[in-house]
Amino acid sequence: MTGKIIDGNAIAERIKKEIRDEIEKLKKKHNGSPCLTAVCIGENPATKVYVKNQKQTCEEVGIEYGMEQLDGKIKEEELLGKINELNKSDRITGIIIQMPVPNHINARKIQMSVAPDKDVEGMTPPNLGNLVYAGINPVVAPCTALSVVECLKSTGVELKGKETVIVGHSEIVGKPVTLMLLSSLLESVTPTVCHIATRDLTSYTKRAEILIVAVGKAGLIKGDMVKDGAIVIDVGINRVNVKDEKGNDVIDEKTGKQKKKTVGDVVFEDAVKRASFITPVPGGVGAVTTVLLLKNVLHLWKMRLGEPDITYKIL
Ligand code: NAP
Repeated sequence: MTGKIIDGNAIAERIKKEIRDEIEKLKKKHNGSPCLTAVCIGENPATKVYVKNQKQTCEEVGIEYGMEQLDGKIKEEELLGKINELNKSDRITGIIIQMPVPNHINARKIQMSVAPDKDVEGMTPPNLGNLVYAGINPVVAPCTALSVVECLKSTGVELKGKETVIVGHSEIVGKPVTLMLLSSLLESVTPTVCHIATRDLTSYTKRAEILIVAVGKAGLIKGDMVKDGAIVIDVGINRVNVKDEKGNDVIDEKTGKQKKKTVGDVVFEDAVKRASFITPVPGGVGAVTTVLLLKNVLHLWKMRLGEPDITYKIL
């Protein structure tokens, strides 16, 4: 069997179009627009690139993008005060705290200070807690977990009761994805969560009809750890050295530096031969995650406008 590739870029384009259309409609009706504000603490070249891309993606769908660039030496109390101001601003729909933050700042404390109705990342305790009640209250959920669900839904396979193994139990992926997949609106899978202390990981992965891997270790899931016909969702993003056929490192002729590539946690070339569906890395979960941040902004805006949220079908 050769697995069908779950095309994250195509899913992202479809969702982006839906978001753009809906924002356009709501802008006409309400004569306003949603606004995402990024809080950047200190200067970081990687964050600069990320923020630039985020701004561009927002503007493509009609979301205004604001940035609060704060001094890297800002005191935690002052930063909390700043976020409190943003929380109170009628103009701002959603707030995103750009990571990493300087060492003297408690990242979790800052993230939790964002008002739940402006929490586009779905990481505040009320929003994470609402996942337990999925199906009763519409919630904003962590974008990567939402992306996993979108990738699964794109296969069209009925999820009900499916033996599902989630490898990794972080707050942003493994835990929320498990809660979301237990939602009756998603036909409730039968989940098992594996982590660093799990004994004999293969015995779990081999029986998974749906295998979700979010660890951050290249090559963790080998082809023979995948059940024939499984749906494989690889969340991992790892930068590894490019090797030649003999296993030697390859040097980039232009830069003279070691050539690198991005891979997931699953050995794709082998797993694809067993899976029924599989996400590639790059071009899978990550591509969808980016647009789901926009969907969360739209969702928060609709709640603010008192609009029924018929587009938020995930939960
Ligand atoms: P994380 O917070 O470091 O969590 C990793 C999880 O993997 C932990 O629960 C850890 O368990 C578990 N783990 C570690 N080694 C293991 C092993 N050998 N066997 C089984 N479980 C093991 O990472 P994260 O933030 O969830 O991110 C995971 C990966 O997803 C990273 O590569 C990250 O870059 C990527 N990611 C991708 C996206 C996307 O949009 N595609 C978004 C976010 C993150 P313990 O806690 O028990 O040690």
